[in-house]
Amino acid sequence: MSESMYALVKSERKAGLELSRVPIPECTAIDVKIEVIKTAICGTDLHIYNWDEWSELNIKPPLVIGHEYVGRVVEVGSMVSTIEVGDLVSGEGHIVCGICRNCRAGRRVLCPNTKGVGVNRDGAFAEYIVIPEQNVVKILPGVPEDIVALFDPFGNAVYTALMFPLVGEDVLITGAGPIGIMAAAVARFCGARNVVLTDIMTERLELAHSVVPDIRTVDTTKEKLRDLMPELKMTEGFDIGLEMSGSASALNEMINMMITGGKISMLGFQKAGTGVDWNKIVMGSLTLRGVYGRDMFETWYKMQALVQAGLDLSPLITHRFDFRDFEKGFAAMNSGTSGKVLLDWTCARD
Ligand SMILES: [Zn+2]
Ligand SMILES: [Zn+2]
Repeated sequence: MSESMYALVKSERKAGLELSRVPIPECTAIDVKIEVIKTAICGTDLHIYNWDEWSELNIKPPLVIGHEYVGRVVEVGSMVSTIEVGDLVSGEGHIVCGICRNCRAGRRVLCPNTKGVGVNRDGAFAEYIVIPEQNVVKILPGVPEDIVALFDPFGNAVYTALMFPLVGEDVLITGAGPIGIMAAAVARFCGARNVVLTDIMTERLELAHSVVPDIRTVDTTKEKLRDLMPELKMTEGFDIGLEMSGSASALNEMINMMITGGKISMLGFQKAGTGVDWNKIVMGSLTLRGVYGRDMFETWYKMQALVQAGLDLSPLITHRFDFRDFEKGFAAMNSGTSGKVLLDWTCARD
């Protein structure tokens, strides 16, 4: 094995990424070294690529980015007991401290000392990644590799969608990006009555339909949600809202459209200072729940179970490239109309 590897590196505090040779990361006693097979590009990676305000505040170059991946274990540390060389795996991208109040209470998703793979430490857009054993997730039989590469955002979708019981409920999802589409697929699969997905881009809504045919998509520049009520046999409003757009107007429209006592899970990042009519929340007895990450590791269990049970996300993958063509992948992401974009790393070993 050579001492260095290919990786996509944010080397300077400006837009773009470099394909570089970097040292292969060391596998300490508690770690697992994973040979990366495929990665997916996340909205977070796009923020880092474009070097926006968020990146300026949160990213310290040089950094290997990327946190959505599937790979195979090639080395385990001396203290590792549950993972073996050869295992097909992915990994939870939030590395928690293990000793804060939430961690010790078993609420690892709420750890305030979380370090993000590909954000605060080197990530997966590389031939190899090293993460602690406790973050490694073994893949069960029957779960396709390409889908495993989507497990990080799929986890956001599953965790948000299943935050409140949705069997028989009318569910409104705002934002038809990949996570919104995955959440719609989960809500449909898990027995919601109506699943309504909104966006302002036709291409995204068309993609949503190709992944989950049996939902009602709404281009809010052309149709009003209120006008759909008879078609959907709804009389009062939506029971469950999943806010995935980060748009202030979508959030406010969702608040307007909820049943009294309705429940909203918020995953999209809103701009600082975003306003809502608080009295609609107070008088409407609404529950607003902020969501971050994935429940460790119950969400991972559920994702694999959903895929094994037949939930198919494969039409969501719209682009596949060799990692050397990463620029094409980021261009597809920057178009705003792509689904998930996969980069293949196996060609590094040809
Ligand atoms: Zn991601
Ligand atoms: Zn902690």
